[in-house]
Amino acid sequence: MIPFNKPFLIGKELAYIREAVLSGKISGDGPFTRKCHTFFEKTLGFQKVFLTTSCTDALEMAAILCDINPGDEVIVPAFTFVSTANAFMLRKATIVFADSSPLHPNLDHTTLPDLITSRTKVVVPVHYAGMACDMEPMLREAEKHQLYVVEDAAQSMDAQYRGRALGSLGHFGAFSFHETKNIISGEGGLLAVNAPDLIRRAEIIWEKGTNRSAFFRGETRKYEWMDIGSSFLPSEITAAFLFAQLEQLDTIQNCRRKIWQSYHDELRDLSASGAFELPHVPEYATHNASMFYLVCKNKTARDGLIEYLKQFEIYAMFHYLPLHKSPFYRQQSPRIISLPNAERFSDCLVRLPFYFGLTEEEQQMVIQKIHGFFQQKTRV
Ligand SMILES: *Cc1c(COP(=O)(O)O)cnc(C)c1O
Repeated sequence: MIPFNKPFLIGKELAYIREAVLSGKISGDGPFTRKCHTFFEKTLGFQKVFLTTSCTDALEMAAILCDINPGDEVIVPAFTFVSTANAFMLRKATIVFADSSPLHPNLDHTTLPDLITSRTKVVVPVHYAGMACDMEPMLREAEKHQLYVVEDAAQSMDAQYRGRALGSLGHFGAFSFHETKNIISGEGGLLAVNAPDLIRRAEIIWEKGTNRSAFFRGETRKYEWMDIGSSFLPSEITAAFLFAQLEQLDTIQNCRRKIWQSYHDELRDLSASGAFELPHVPEYATHNASMFYLVCKNKTARDGLIEYLKQFEIYAMFHYLPLHKSPFYRQQSPRIISLPNAERFSDCLVRLPFYFGLTEEEQQMVIQKIHGFFQQKTRV
């Protein structure tokens, strides 16, 4: 059996959890949280980060920091996970869905001028598969209209746009350490705050609306309710697990890049013969091998491939059902809109098994069966 995903231990996760538990401090913002923060700030170069319990939480923090008022418009790609839109919906924003590029699932920045109105406040680029959106034109457009840019970098740890880390380019970057991502802690996330004037407020929102962090630094004599906020910080148990993974970031990434490259090299012939498209890697993007997907010619071929692989206990997956067609959004906004590129990726995209520790034999089996499926198709 070859599962789609498999959570993994890389080294010291259990030892660090034990250390955290035995230290007598297992709530949040302790030594392991600080080690993780230091890693992101000193080793990876983010200006200011906050560990959160999920990327969903990081997006919700960002939405609070963008100061959304009811009716403010937020531009989100339709081809994304629910949380990208839901975080802003919770603040009573009006969600405006953007289509994907024809070449890849990311938000097509050329559609922005038509989507931006006087009420637009935020644009949320999602770097699908850790493949950068074209950030320069997007940031230029956002600046022209004074919009916040919140990067949904859930899948983008260790990926770059023209050499700059994804998640560091907009006002905010939200990352995920859910067990399906490159670096994991079960559930977990991170908010990178790249706008210096928003750091102070971010810290208060992170700590349930209190100035508890400033109090522990000795900057105030008591801590009080200062703002809205929530319990966004993870426990030390989560941070301990995460830190063990971060220490092995290069090992994890080398393994994943090898898997990505093998899929790419060994499926190129089939792609060239027109069976499907391989992931498009724009010249400005250095991806992080966060997943490997194929784009089949139509939904029938895609569903057929998933079913075929399942017979051999190989589990491939489709991805997002486009949010503009979701029951919740349709109820909010009954007007039917058509976003053909997002709909095509939703119908035709299939993700292949991909996880740290996927063996060469397992991967060869997946590749061989994909060849088998398309050979069988040309014979009939
Ligand atoms: C995984 C993912 C999320 C949600 O991350 P959680 O940590 O599970 O909250 C949000 N957006 C995208 C694009 C994702 O891939």
